[in-house]
Amino acid sequence: MTLLRAVKGMNDVLPDEIGSWQRVEAAYARTMSLHGFREVRTPCVEPTGLFVRAIGEATDVVEKEMYSFRHHDEDLTLRPEGTAGAARAYLEHAVHAKEPTSRWWYSGPMFRAERPQRGRYRQFSQLGAEIFGDPGPGCDAEMIDMLVGFLGDLRVPGVEVLVNSLGGPATRARYRDALVQYLTPRAAELSAESQRRLATNPLRILDSKDARDQAAVRDAPTMSELLDDADRAHFDGLRRHLDELGTPYRVDARLVRGLDYYTRTLFEIKGAHDALGAGSTLVGGGRYDLMLAELGGPQVPAIGFAAGLERLLLGSGLAPPGHAVDTLVAPLGEAAASRALSIGRELRRKGIRCEVDTRGGSLKSQLRRANTLGARMVVILGDSELAEGVVQVKDLEARTQDRMPIEQALRIIVDRLMAASRSVDSRPPAPGQEKP
Ligand code: AMP
Repeated sequence: MTLLRAVKGMNDVLPDEIGSWQRVEAAYARTMSLHGFREVRTPCVEPTGLFVRAIGEATDVVEKEMYSFRHHDEDLTLRPEGTAGAARAYLEHAVHAKEPTSRWWYSGPMFRAERPQRGRYRQFSQLGAEIFGDPGPGCDAEMIDMLVGFLGDLRVPGVEVLVNSLGGPATRARYRDALVQYLTPRAAELSAESQRRLATNPLRILDSKDARDQAAVRDAPTMSELLDDADRAHFDGLRRHLDELGTPYRVDARLVRGLDYYTRTLFEIKGAHDALGAGSTLVGGGRYDLMLAELGGPQVPAIGFAAGLERLLLGSGLAPPGHAVDTLVAPLGEAAASRALSIGRELRRKGIRCEVDTRGGSLKSQLRRANTLGARMVVILGDSELAEGVVQVKDLEARTQDRMPIEQALRIIVDRLMAASRSVDSRPPAPGQEKP
């Protein structure tokens, strides 16, 4: 019988990898709480219409990448991103009527039927956040600065921030016309996809990876030439704040992003880790001042971002954390097995991470197990120790082994491990390893 395999583009995260995931998640939760964000959890499945309205009909995500299905009389979709669901929840619970501004963060799986490759999956995890009710640009700059700090905590090399302004709806409409006017006589030079986009969503042509499209738009007009006074003042404000914070960034007048809902501030953050390859975009974000009204709510300005967790892991320079447990209890023989279990329980009650080698087996194989686990202390318990009420305490770091009563062994293990963790704690926390 052939073995069943996971769905293509949907990956397992095995226990060997989970430590890295949890460290990023903990660093993220800490960053968010330091900045006054609170966590929100919304369902993985939403009505399909939500994404069509929020993300936009003529986007790659909605046109090609959604996992949609009909269940009884409902059209449903596995969420391809987190903003639409957060906006829906914000409106459904009338949060705007309860507080003038809300800062929410989320993390969880997203689903897009894309062609899987390194850094691009069909199920992936995003860490994201939204600020509702603040028109910016101060919170826009703070959000970008916060993300640069977070990526620094994860030791992501070569962080590059790109910013642009898409203006408001009037600027967008004028720019759309200018772009169509510029590209129509050049339509034959465009890829087939972009020829179609010229009629449906011309801005997306700027985002195309096709060399023909990139050549055709090289000298096209840019959005910044067409910003109206209010949009320009907003963008200047963002840049001034970033300059004063000393947050490095580059204006990229051609930056547009795959989702249709953005207005004014738009940004992308890239990393330069070799492992990232072409998938160097770690974070994408921007303002969506019109979306809540388009979803039937009041006009509430908003900005948000999402970072791909798998990409952060590929782009991070942190070594994977080790150490599954601190202590292994090694019973030698049947008679010692129950006593070993109770010693394990005592150690855990004192806060010591501990595994009892319930397989038994030879001392050699149990010591090998201690090494694999990264345990520093081993409690060895054979028949003669059991009879005398003592154990052997082996300290793999100090390379000592002593025979002592069980009570004394517990004390010594606690003292040594606590002292070791205090000396680690007294050092400045390694970035990304701060306690949440
Ligand atoms: P987006 O929601 O498209 O703006 O993407 C925001 C971030 O999510 C990207 O910068 C990536 O880090 C991550 N991301 C988007 N799509 C995928 C995918 N298919 N696989 C892995 N990460 C993704």
